[in-house]
Amino acid sequence: MYYAYKYRLEPSDAQRKELDRHRDICRQLYNHTRYRLNEYRENHGELPSMTTLRSELPALKKWWDGLNDVYSKVLQTVVERLFNNLSSLSALKENGYGVGQLKWKPPREFRSFTYNQSGFELDKKGGQTVLSLSKLADIPISLHREIPDDAALKQVTLKKEPTGEWFATFGVEVDREPPQKPDQPKNVVGIDVGILKYAHDTDGHAVESVDLSDERERLEREQRNLSRKEHGSNNHEKQRRRVAECHADLKNKRRDFLHKLSNYYAREYDLVAVEDLDAKGLVQLDGNSRNRAGAAWGTFLRMLEYKCEREGTHFVAVDPAGTTKECAACGVSSEKPLWVREHSCPSCGFTADRDWNAAWNILSRGIKQVGAGRSESTPVETALPTGTTSVPAKRVLEAGSPTLKERTASAVSE
Ligand SMILES: [Zn+2]
Repeated sequence: MYYAYKYRLEPSDAQRKELDRHRDICRQLYNHTRYRLNEYRENHGELPSMTTLRSELPALKKWWDGLNDVYSKVLQTVVERLFNNLSSLSALKENGYGVGQLKWKPPREFRSFTYNQSGFELDKKGGQTVLSLSKLADIPISLHREIPDDAALKQVTLKKEPTGEWFATFGVEVDREPPQKPDQPKNVVGIDVGILKYAHDTDGHAVESVDLSDERERLEREQRNLSRKEHGSNNHEKQRRRVAECHADLKNKRRDFLHKLSNYYAREYDLVAVEDLDAKGLVQLDGNSRNRAGAAWGTFLRMLEYKCEREGTHFVAVDPAGTTKECAACGVSSEKPLWVREHSCPSCGFTADRDWNAAWNILSRGIKQVGAGRSESTPVETALPTGTTSVPAKRVLEAGSPTLKERTASAVSE
């Protein structure tokens, strides 16, 4: 299995300059190669082979001094990536898709370069963990979580964010198969991912979305300040960075929350059922919050899916149509406007909170889809009493811990 681990680098000012210099040499090589490929195609009517292209690098180094300062595999990766992108573009074109050309990259748009297979290692220097990069530097790195012992480091990508911070993302291969998924999942859960609130699940947890209002306010304030600065001035550039930092803060906080939430479900259960992205539900929101909710939802589903894979947990995304209308106890559908928070079945009399009823429907669809044949558990004896008690996101943030269940359970009965 292949994983990515991302860490913050803490380069000195001198190292920061070196990183930027290497990045810029890679950028120039990218632009040069792009030009070279287009020229070749005009003369020969097709792209050169990867081997031809790679074999040109040594000759290039004879007159282009800067190239010799960069680790050779890093340069190869620049050329290979460009080549691969261009070939897939050409393939699209041949199949009749209208696609643009690869563009010349200005410094701002070329943010990363990659050490592949060799030329990098993690090391200790004077008690500090450093990322040792051939022909570049030993850069202090903050390893806030461990890379598994049995993992092989395949590559590392160094990237400069618009905030000016540098990050290293390791591509890591672990030589073990993901655990088997159980034929008869015992510990199962359905999650109703609300659009505005966060999640309700069939075990009675209600998880509120993380509160980002302070961060949003700050972002708006900094954006207003930016609009008052003179374009191209030093102050403008400084303020632009501050805005980028705000964007990064928001994104990190949201991602962190989604990581923890998805981790929790993937670890605690044998089967996790969620609704597939519900385009119809999203349409009810206005543009901005629709994009935000849609993006967060998609991210959550992707995280949940790969984490379930890793933990040997069934992941099922079910058809979202009608999950709130259907009665989880008898299956009869009844219309419910959005403001009706309680499900009360006209046919069998079952009552439950609207979102919990939905979660139960999601779970039984999920179980059916996996074919696990364990849908006889009716919600009636397990569903919680009507009346939602929301659990603040803080509780999830503290968790990933096995005590989350107890804590939330007591919070619900309070
Ligand atoms: Zn019913």
